[in-house]
This record gives sequence, C-alpha cells and structure tokens, in this order.
Amino acid sequence: MSLLAINGGERVRTREWPKWPQPAPGALDALQEVLSSGRWSISGPYQGKSSFERRFAQEFADYHDLPYCVPTASGTASLMVALEACGVGVGDEVIIPGLTWVANASTVAGVNAVPVPVDIDRDTLCIDPAAVERAITPRTAAIVIVHLYSAVADLDGLLEVAQRHGIPLIEDCAQAHGATYRDRRVGTFGALGTFSMQHSKVLTSGEGGAVITASADLARRAEHLRADGRTYSPTEPLLGEMELLQTAELMGNNRCLSEFQAALLIAQLAILDEQNARRARNAALLDSAIGAAGIRPQVTSPGTTRRTYYEWAGWIDDPELAEAGCEKVAAAVAAELGTGAVTACYPAFTTNPLYRPGTRKRYALGPDALDLSQSELPVCEDAARRVITIHHSLLLGDEQDMHDIARAFEKVHAHRHELTGRDALPTSMG
Ligand SMILES: *Cc1c(COP(=O)(O)O)cnc(C)c1O
Repeated sequence: MSLLAINGGERVRTREWPKWPQPAPGALDALQEVLSSGRWSISGPYQGKSSFERRFAQEFADYHDLPYCVPTASGTASLMVALEACGVGVGDEVIIPGLTWVANASTVAGVNAVPVPVDIDRDTLCIDPAAVERAITPRTAAIVIVHLYSAVADLDGLLEVAQRHGIPLIEDCAQAHGATYRDRRVGTFGALGTFSMQHSKVLTSGEGGAVITASADLARRAEHLRADGRTYSPTEPLLGEMELLQTAELMGNNRCLSEFQAALLIAQLAILDEQNARRARNAALLDSAIGAAGIRPQVTSPGTTRRTYYEWAGWIDDPELAEAGCEKVAAAVAAELGTGAVTACYPAFTTNPLYRPGTRKRYALGPDALDLSQSELPVCEDAARRVITIHHSLLLGDEQDMHDIARAFEKVHAHRHELTGRDALPTSMG
C-alpha cells in the first residue's frame, strides 16, 4: 500500500470541499441597502426607518421565542455583557468548562473575576454538573456552560445545580445556533444565552454576536453595557437625530454590531435551519462509517431534540492511533483530504498556550489568581490528547464526501505505524 499523504503518498481525495462562509440569497442586496442608507451603525443618525440591528434583534429573539435580543460586536463581547448584566465583577468566581475556546476564561478575567475551570463529561465533552457542584463556593457569581462542538450540555442537571444554589447560569451557544433541548432552543434555558457570529460559526457575519434573555431587566442592562451606556429611544426620533439616548443608568462600552453585519445576519439566518439539517444528515452518515477506523463519535445529552454541528467530534479509541495523539492524526487525515478543516480538539485550561494572563497588566487580582495550570481536569486532558474535530463546512458536502472522510480515517488507521514510528503489524493473517 502507498504511504500516507503526509509522508509523500497519494491523497485519498483531490476534489474541492464546500466553501465557508456561503452568502445567503439576498445577502448582497442587504449590504447594498446599508451602503446607500446613510446609516452604517446604530450610533449614526436616524434615517426614518428601523435600524438593521433592531430588525435582526427582533428576528433572532423570535427565532428563540424570547422577548429580548441585544446584538453585540462578537461572541467575546456577548459573554462580557452577559457576565456584567448578572453583576459579576472583582473578587467573584465564575465556573467554566475546562475544555473550550479560550474566550470562556479570558472574558471572566476581562470583567476582573476569577475563572474556575471544571471537568467535562466524557461522552458529551460538555461541562459535568457534578463537577460544577463541587466547585461552588460562597464567591461563585455565575456558571458559564458551553454547548460544545455538536452536543447540547446536560441542561437538566446543570439547571438543577444552578437553581438549588441560586447562581445565574449563562449558556454560551457560540457553537450551537439552532440546537434544541426538550424542544426548546438552547440559549433560552439560562438567565442569558450568548452567541458568536464570527467567521467559523454556523451563523456568521464575519464578526458579530448576540445576547438573548427572557428578562426585561437583564436585557436593559445588556443594552447599556454594549452601547456606552445608551439605549434606544422609546419614541421615534426626528430624521437626522440620534436614536440612542444617554440614560447612563449603567456605564457601558461600545460593543455594537454594525449595520452591515446586522443586514447580513438577517439574510444568513434565513438559511440556518436548512444548513443545520444538511449537516446533521451528513454527520449521521459519518457516524456510521467512521467506527471502522477506531473513532468513536461524540454524543449529545439525552434531552437533546435537535442536534447541530459546529464541529463533528470523535474520540480516537484505537490504542495505537491514540498513542500517536490527535494532533498527528488530524494532520494526517487533513493531508489525505486536502483541507485544513480536520484538527485536534482544544487544549485543557491546565495547558492552554493562549491563556496567559501574566502577560497583561489589567487584572485587579493579579496573574497568580488567574493561573489555571493546577486545576483538576483529567477528562479534559485526556480529550485534549485523543479527540479529533472536523469543521462543519465539510458537512455541507454530499454523501460521497462523507465516505471520503471515512476512507481517509481508515487509511490513517491502517498506516498508523507511520505515525507512531513502530513497525507495521503483520497483515498476512487473513
Ligand atoms: C467562538 C467562540 C467564542 C468567542 O466568539 P468571538 O466572536 O470569536 O469573540 C466564545 N465561546 C465559544 C464556545 C466559541 O466557540
């Protein structure tokens, strides 16, 4: 048999993959309309009609069957707005998952609180309710959970713990736009739900974010926090007047979504469900095809009623492949497929190289209080060695594409000795 592509062999596949992002029908017209509207931001003067930002907020709130949505400049901004809306600040602790994008720790540090990473569930890769409970102290001011990759976290278990202790739960849905749990969309279970619309996410405007909530009080706080302490005027302004009022009930920062991004998001939201359904169909094909290569797919919590795929994720179960580690396996599979969309999962917060608070001077508690290297995260650390992820753009392909992915994993499995440096096993047995 030929060598692995990463060692100079022939690739399993040379066809192109679907591109990401994909502009929705009407996206260009929407951008054009903003261009000539005379208002590129909500802080620009009123032009006689509702801002795109307000229209997107209404549509995104309706999509979730909730009364309030406050758009933000990024997922990071949405997390900081949500934390501060809940009153989190200096001296507080916030429980977060030990394995997630770095923003979940840096946003907690960003509001001068202390991130407390806890371990995850081995099957769902999402934060473990029992680990959350063990980490609660009198200083715990919020719990941030993440619906990671393609799973919805155990919301029943997490809400039970949060409610019993009277601690607000924030659902980070940056990887789960459109997923449902007990037939309700994620983001509607916690005090607030936060979203990212950054380039890689399943709903995107390049950069962007949003906070959703059922609480009028939290929504009003979030509005002030994201627009320099301003909110929309309750009455229609005159043409050319500012629509944002300086109430300053609560000091904020400028974390506003631009009108271009909002207009684009309205168009992209219209195709989200259809794209999510396509990804889910392809993921099911991949799940059944990939077992032969020694890979075990991530599962979602039992209450999940609609699963969405930001990344397809799976554990490397084969011991020899596992010994090579997910970084090497991902690089080998990526080379077979001619894509950068196959990667190792996040590092645990005990070793995350991006999380380096000591390199900055902004934190009131000092970098030592923010050192996560001694946290107890055995499952996160195991996942960081053995979990492999595939970006959702590949799941927008067809059935043949899923077979190609499975074949690439099978080839890497058959050639695992090339990654471990061990001799090939004898294959003359059969
Ligand atoms: C992408 C992401 C964020 C950060 O969003 P940005 O828009 O990049 O700031 C936060 N949390 C999770 C889980 C993410 O995947």
